[in-house]
Amino acid sequence: MPDNRVLIFDTTLRDGEQAPGCSMNLEEKVVLARQLAKMGVDVIEAGFPIASPGDFEAVRTISEEIKGPIICGLARTADTDIDRAWEALQVAERARIHTFIATSEIHMRDKLKMGPDRVLEEVDRAVRRAHSYCEDVEFSAEDATRSDWEYLVKVYNAAVKAGASTLNVPDTVGYTTPAEYAELIRFLVEKVEGSEKVRFAVHCHDDLGLSVANSLAAIRAGARQVECTVNGIGERAGNTAMEEVVMALRTRGEFFGGCDTGINAKEIYHSSRLLSQVIGINVPPNKAIVGDNAFAHEAGIHQHGMLSNRLTYEIMTPESVGRGSTELVLGKHSGRHALAERLRTLGFDPEKVDFDEVFRRFKDLADAKKTVYNEDIEALVTDQLLRVVEYYKLENLSVTTGTFVTPTATVELAVDGESLKQAAMGDGPVDAVFKAIKTITDTQARLLRYQVNAITSGMDAQGEVAVTLEADGMRVIGQGADLDILVASAKAYVHALNKLIQRRQAGDRAALRGV
Ligand code: MN
Repeated sequence: MPDNRVLIFDTTLRDGEQAPGCSMNLEEKVVLARQLAKMGVDVIEAGFPIASPGDFEAVRTISEEIKGPIICGLARTADTDIDRAWEALQVAERARIHTFIATSEIHMRDKLKMGPDRVLEEVDRAVRRAHSYCEDVEFSAEDATRSDWEYLVKVYNAAVKAGASTLNVPDTVGYTTPAEYAELIRFLVEKVEGSEKVRFAVHCHDDLGLSVANSLAAIRAGARQVECTVNGIGERAGNTAMEEVVMALRTRGEFFGGCDTGINAKEIYHSSRLLSQVIGINVPPNKAIVGDNAFAHEAGIHQHGMLSNRLTYEIMTPESVGRGSTELVLGKHSGRHALAERLRTLGFDPEKVDFDEVFRRFKDLADAKKTVYNEDIEALVTDQLLRVVEYYKLENLSVTTGTFVTPTATVELAVDGESLKQAAMGDGPVDAVFKAIKTITDTQARLLRYQVNAITSGMDAQGEVAVTLEADGMRVIGQGADLDILVASAKAYVHALNKLIQRRQAGDRAALRGV
C-alpha cells in the first residue's frame, strides 16, 4: 500500500451507536454495514461483542455477511473480552481485534484502579492473546491525549512487541488541539520502537469542535488511519465526520502530501441519508458536505459568480459526493426496467429487495405525486429494508380536524391478524391518531420526540416522520413516509411499537462504553 494511503476505519456501528438516540437493531446495522462496504471503507468496527448479546450478534452477523472491508470488534484487556470478540469475528473474511486500556493518570487511578506498571502488563497480555487468534490486532491507549508522553511510548512499545500492527492514539474526551496532536503523533512515530512497521491511527471526539481538524493535522504528522463515523455521530458531541475528512483530503490533496482514502465519494450522500433514516436524526442544514444548504448559493452576488464560473464559489461539486439528485427521475409511465436501473444507481441491489412491492409502491406514488425524485425512491426501499416483523399493522385511518372541530381520529390496526378499530379525540390531529393507537395497543410507551421532515422540496413532497418512544428503559425510533403527514405519523408510531416488541424479545441493552 502506498505511503500516502489513509485508511478509513468506520465506527458508526460502535462509537456512533453508543450515542443517545442512535442505537440500532441488527437488521439496521447490517443494512448500514453493506452500504459502508459499498462506499469502500477499509475497516468496519461492528461492535463491542462482550457488551451485550445484541452487540455480539451484530459483530457475528456482519462478519458472516459483509465481504471486502476488515471487520473489527472491540475488547477490553480481559481474557473474556478478547475471547468473546474472537468468537464473534472468526467467521470474517478478514478480522481485526481492537483492544484498549486507559493510560492517563486520572483514568488509571480513578477508573481502573491500576498503577502504570500493571497497565503495561495488561497491554502485553491482551495484545498477545488477541494476536494468538488473529494476525491483525489494533491497540488503543484510551485517553492518550491526557496521558504522559514518555509513558505512552512504553505502552505502545509493549503493544508492538506483543504483536499489534495498528496503534491508535485516541482523543477520547475531545481535549486536544491540532498543533498539539500533530506534535504528539510526530513524537510517537519517532520514539516508538518498530514504528516503521506499524500504522498510527487517530480517533477524535468533537467536544471542542476540533475532531476533523485534529484528525487532519495528525495525517500531516504521519497518521495513516482515521477513525470516524458517518455524519459524525458518536458519544457526546460526536466523532470525526468521515465525509469531511474524505473531502478535505480529496479537495486539498496537495497540501496533505498527496494523501487520499479509498472511499468512493459518490456514495457519501446516500450513506448520510441512509443513516439519518435509520436513526431518525437529520443533520443540521449547515452541516459540511451533507447538509441541505452545503451547496446552496442564495446570495445574489454569489449566484452571479456561479453562473459565470462555478469555481468562483464552489471548491467541490455536489455531484462529486453523490448529490445533484433532485432532478426529475421517474414518472408514472416508467417501467420495471427503469426502476431497477435507478435502484442500482442509487446503490441498492434490486435482487436484494422485494422488487414487486417496491414497484407497486412506486406506481402508487407516481400516480399521486407526478414527479418522483431519487429521495422518494430511497425512502421506499429503505422503508422496506428496515422493516421489522409487523405485530401491529396500520390498515385504515380517518381524521377530522380544523379550526372548529375537536380533532378526532379513527384508526384500524391489524393486531396479530385480527382487525381492531378505535376512535379518539386529541389536542391536535396527530395527538388524536396517537391516542387511538395507544388505546388499541394498550401501550405504556412514552412519546419522547416527534419530528417531521419533507423528503424533497415542493408542495407535493412526501412527509417523513420520526417518532421516538421509550418503555422499560429502551428507546426506539420509528419512521414513516407518506404524502399525507397524518398517515406518515401513524406509520411511524406503529413502526416504533413493532420495534419495541422486537427489542423486548431480543432483550438486551449494551451497558459498556468503549474508547
Ligand atoms: Mn470514542
